[in-house]
Amino acid sequence: MRYISTRGNTPAKTFTEILLGGLAPDGGLYLPEQYPQVSRAELDAWRNLSYADLAFAVLSKFITDIPAGDLKRIINKTYTPQIYCHPRSGSDANDITPLRTLEPGVHILELSNGPTLAFKDMAMQLLGNLFEYALAKQHEELNILGATSGDTGSAAEYAMRGKRGIRVFMLSPHGKMSAFQRAQMYSLQDPNIFNIAIRGVFDEAQDIVKAVSNDHAFKAKYKIGTVNSINWARVSAQIVYYFKGYFAATQSNDEQVAFSVPSGNFGNICAGHIARMMGLPIGQLILATNENDVLDEFFRTGVYRPRGTDHTYETSSPSMDISKASNFERFVFDLVGRDAAKVREFWGKVESGGAFGIKGTPYWDVLPQFHFASGKSSHQDRLKTIRELWEEYGVMVDTHTADGIKVGLEQRRPGLPLICLETAQPAKFEDTIREALGRGPVRPAALAGIENLPQRVTVMGVDVQAVQDFIRQHAAD
Ligand SMILES: *Cc1c(COP(=O)(O)O)cnc(C)c1O
Repeated sequence: MRYISTRGNTPAKTFTEILLGGLAPDGGLYLPEQYPQVSRAELDAWRNLSYADLAFAVLSKFITDIPAGDLKRIINKTYTPQIYCHPRSGSDANDITPLRTLEPGVHILELSNGPTLAFKDMAMQLLGNLFEYALAKQHEELNILGATSGDTGSAAEYAMRGKRGIRVFMLSPHGKMSAFQRAQMYSLQDPNIFNIAIRGVFDEAQDIVKAVSNDHAFKAKYKIGTVNSINWARVSAQIVYYFKGYFAATQSNDEQVAFSVPSGNFGNICAGHIARMMGLPIGQLILATNENDVLDEFFRTGVYRPRGTDHTYETSSPSMDISKASNFERFVFDLVGRDAAKVREFWGKVESGGAFGIKGTPYWDVLPQFHFASGKSSHQDRLKTIRELWEEYGVMVDTHTADGIKVGLEQRRPGLPLICLETAQPAKFEDTIREALGRGPVRPAALAGIENLPQRVTVMGVDVQAVQDFIRQHAAD
């Protein structure tokens, strides 16, 4: 299996060649040359596999340049009940992604039982093990630099902690995260994890990361890398749970299902799109946004118009507060029949601050063949959904999952079982849960009192030089 760029101007590469990188050199995103196909006989054989065995079956179609025995060992050590150890009451940690049935035909797939209580652990934990393996083989080291306002940074730290050859330098806005989020990140005592709190807002921390990455000499000398959501290995790891969820919600491989997906950067639902392209019987992929609805707008009107940060709202489902969806280009590449020149034309417009539209083109006519539906949700909708689920089923969901459930119930085709992907646990969003229910969220017992643990963090001004000095001091070269 080899990987090509959506912009068409990069030679095909293997999985391990693209594993540690980000964008392709031509500015595009990597995708497999062709999607591997899953036969009916394979689906039948996969139906009762454990999560780890299923992950091996799916991922070995994409990862063909790591010896099977090594890949199996990496996957087996990733998907264990010891790592996905925070299941909700009544769920079995051995399932890794337990399916909770609200009523016949309506389900929630628990994807946030990992160490940071968000679905990003599903892919990031595998990435940590793949990085450690690849770096050891190449006798290389990597210094991961990132900025976070919460979820991604903590998932990266928990995935990379204690890994040989890897250090993480994670910038966060000083005093802007919740006490729980701070405790999650800053209480890590692993010597390869460095938390840097910047006296500024998230965008200023992000700008420091960009400035350091644009210092090419520094970047090369200190082997600076990232773990952002366009990383292909992250997308591929997410394909697995669409298969797992499908098998859990159906009796036979003749049935179709609908997935509803709380979406931001289009990484999660892109994995669902690929699962469907491989032959998984998905009848509907329902994309849910919050008030930041660029993606919903595209599926309704055919126009993709990213917004500036000044038109990006801060909402109560903050991990979906995006103005442009970094993985969306992967889907559009498939939509335009993998015509890289067309993708270059569209993103030429996007990157000069504009928009592109497909209405009145053949692409609009083929869009229904991809089985997407979409909708949006507001703060009031979230409160209502959280309340209804609590009152009717005794199930507490977080704000992002609530967006997915609201839009999923609205958009589902009658007769299709609906699987709502749960992207975080309510414990992470205490304030909104209190607002909706008048009580705090349930927190996994193992995380009780983490706010009281000693914390390790270095506070700095908005200062690129200071961050570079810090990396120089703490990075091995
Ligand atoms: C990252 C995230 C999302 C959005 O996922 P994408 O892959 O960016 O579409 C939704 N919910 C939560 C809780 C997240 O952390």
